[in-house]
Amino acid sequence: MTSTRHSAPDCHKILTQLNDYADGELSEQFCRELEEHLAHCDNCSIVLDTLRKTIYLVRNLSQTPPHMPADVEQRLFAVLDLQDFIQSENP
Ligand SMILES: [Zn+2]
Repeated sequence: MTSTRHSAPDCHKILTQLNDYADGELSEQFCRELEEHLAHCDNCSIVLDTLRKTIYLVRNLSQTPPHMPADVEQRLFAVLDLQDFIQSENP
């Protein structure tokens, strides 16, 4: 038995699109899906909360453009301990 914290299939979808969510570029439909998912998934709630704060800090501290460079994203995911999960399809 694996001990993946994000075991639900929805979690992968949610987490891979959190970056767009942070950019405010997600469709309303996905936002609703996201809110519903967060309502019963503590893991993703925590991740999103952390992501929001991190994005906010990154933008305000360095005045980065709305679209973050890839290396910033990578560091962000690393900080959030998401990197392994995001790249799980690519071992
Ligand atoms: Zn989840």
